[in-house]
Amino acid sequence: MNGVSPPASVARARDDILARIAAAAASVNRDPSTVHLTAVSKLQPDEAVDAMLAAGQRRFGENRVQEATRRWTPRRSGYPDLELRLIGPLQTNKAKDAVSMFDVIETLDRERLAASIADACAKLGRRPQLLVQVNTGEEIQKAGVPPRDVDAFVRRARETFGLKVSGVMCIPPVGEPAGPHFALLANISRRHGLEVISMGMSADFELAVRFGATHVRVGSALFGARPGT
Ligand SMILES: *Cc1c(COP(=O)(O)O)cnc(C)c1O
Repeated sequence: MNGVSPPASVARARDDILARIAAAAASVNRDPSTVHLTAVSKLQPDEAVDAMLAAGQRRFGENRVQEATRRWTPRRSGYPDLELRLIGPLQTNKAKDAVSMFDVIETLDRERLAASIADACAKLGRRPQLLVQVNTGEEIQKAGVPPRDVDAFVRRARETFGLKVSGVMCIPPVGEPAGPHFALLANISRRHGLEVISMGMSADFELAVRFGATHVRVGSALFGARPGT
């Protein structure tokens, strides 16, 4: 043991990431307060999440509806300013659970899902913020709307399903430089007037900030390696 209590080391890790975000923003003359840290807590132990809450972090990303529900249902009421973001793929049969649990769904990527989310919003009287996941690398195995279809997809989501789409997110292909993908996503967001740009993970969040990210999704650089990985 090094004598440092977990909350102290967690707070330090968070301060470090926030400082790096601020420095990256300043390096391109962006106001650091326009960049937001999403702490990706998927697969992390509850104690690590509680330490992050104690350090002041309120914006968290989870990739599974069930895991998020188990973890956050008992914690929600203690933190009125909590912001939970779904960053993993969403099945239509979980749309209702997702709409009731999350404040932001970052992975809207097909019409059937848009329909299910719209239905759940009407039933539950909740309207989470929605981001369209864009498959910037046009990878066959990856979720997301191809760049050329974003325009039509956003229009359909708004006009046919009455959804409010506020932004875009992407996960660049593994093993490729991320810069061109970040540039493409930032371009798409500008073209469609979608203000929220979720991009950048532990390995490349500073680059994402330089390309215009409004939200970076940082897991392992913040919490340490996910158990079992
Ligand atoms: C797991 C995950 C992250 C965080 O990844 P790290 O490399 O641990 O920062 C970010 N975004 C998505 C969509 C993820 O699934």
